[in-house]
Amino acid sequence: MLELNYWLTTVDMPEGNSEALPETADVAVVGAGFTGLSAARTLAKNGARVVVLEGESVGWGASSRNGGMVLTGLKLGVNNLISMYGRERPQKMYAASLASIDCVEKIVSEEGIQCDFARCGHLEVACKQAHFDDYARQVEVVAREFNHKLRIVPRTELRAEIGSNIYHGGMVDEISAGVNPARYVAGLATAATGAGACVIERTRVRNIERDFRQGTEGWKVSTSHGAVWARDVFIATSGYTGEATPSLRKKIIPIGSYIITTEILSPDAARDVSPRNRMIYDSKNYIYYYRLTPDNRMLFGGRAAFFPESGNSIRKSAEILRQGMIEVYPQLRDTKVEFVWGGTLDFAFDIMPHAGQMDGLYYALGYAGHGVAMATLQGQWMAQRIAGQEPDNPFEGIPFPGAPLGLYNGTPWFLPFAGAYYKFLDWVS
Ligand SMILES: Cc1cc2nc3c(=O)[nH]c(=O)nc-3n(C[C@H](O)[C@H](O)[C@H](O)COP(=O)(O)OP(=O)(O)OC[C@H]3O[C@@H](n4cnc5c(N)ncnc54)[C@H](O)[C@@H]3O)c2cc1C
Repeated sequence: MLELNYWLTTVDMPEGNSEALPETADVAVVGAGFTGLSAARTLAKNGARVVVLEGESVGWGASSRNGGMVLTGLKLGVNNLISMYGRERPQKMYAASLASIDCVEKIVSEEGIQCDFARCGHLEVACKQAHFDDYARQVEVVAREFNHKLRIVPRTELRAEIGSNIYHGGMVDEISAGVNPARYVAGLATAATGAGACVIERTRVRNIERDFRQGTEGWKVSTSHGAVWARDVFIATSGYTGEATPSLRKKIIPIGSYIITTEILSPDAARDVSPRNRMIYDSKNYIYYYRLTPDNRMLFGGRAAFFPESGNSIRKSAEILRQGMIEVYPQLRDTKVEFVWGGTLDFAFDIMPHAGQMDGLYYALGYAGHGVAMATLQGQWMAQRIAGQEPDNPFEGIPFPGAPLGLYNGTPWFLPFAGAYYKFLDWVS
């Protein structure tokens, strides 16, 4: 088994197109993942001089490491959204989640990105009878409030969707899609540089401060390789948000998520585990998510450990996830696991995406494991916002809570307790 991101074996990741920092830019984007590159592409297409500053390499963060599930909806359920924001805003939020998938599809087609984008739909499976009972309520609310159709799959019909007997039923959304995320982020980077953006790798932003130049208000962005002056700055650092933006860092909890992939399954075995090639996740708090890769490996992910990834947590996760996979699919007991890797998710304290301006800096993050499509759309919307347009972004202007009692400075000391708490909730509810 290799401790390596399988997706990276399927792509030649493009490098940045410049090593030298420009002296000035209209917009400096921090982070070269879906959010930052989508914004850079839109800004550059509109004629802005954009520099993308990436501390590691293109797509190094969650964008190349994820499950490639291009999902409708948000991490929080629809009833939660309505109880938090009333009716009108959640309608726009849900519509945004649908629009975000169209947005990915359009970019993939316009830019000719070979990333196996396919509208194969997603399947949520119920770990308990009570979870399945709740699906009926969700289907009704989503149809009534959001004019969107989900389909219930009773236990007796579940075999047509998944080769597992452990679930109490499921719920299908045909609109969701699957993608090879590393190829997608590579294509976004090529599209951004093709449109004129300057992407610079291995250049970590250390400090951002107000700076006037010839009477123009802007920012001095200091990096590991010198400084660049920019009129606007867009922070697209997601779960890797750090000391360069201390206010934002305090709002985001970095949480580890891990994935294994098996050897290639035979066509029959692949059809058996996932007859309709769905993007699948279960109904627990401590979820498992899984799918077939385009070359028919089982990709099985979950929050096997709560801490951000390290060599130790990745190795431990491989065995935990293999056990999880065998619980779901006993028929894969003798299937070899070939790859394991981890990445970091970005959770806000209210588990919602957030976008806007903080201390004068633009930002979009908080995707909570639902970021492939939403990060792409937020990048576009924030680019439009920076260009002076007014996209109707329902994730702007909502309260952005910090930790209760301010007990958090960016080091998530409470994660082991939170992990235990969610495991407990899965046990009792
Ligand atoms: C294991 C895993 C599985 C997931 N599965 C799914 C899924 O199936 N479906 C889904 O919708 N979502 C999924 N997600 C979430 C999704 O991948 C993310 O929401 C999305 O990739 C966020 O993109 P981003 O561009 O905002 O951030 P990232 O891709 O994380 O990019 C942030 C970048 O910022 C850079 N950076 C940070 N600080 C600095 C600095 N100071 N200077 C310069 N650069 C900096 C980092 O190096 C990094 O490359 C998953 C995430 C993980 C980790």
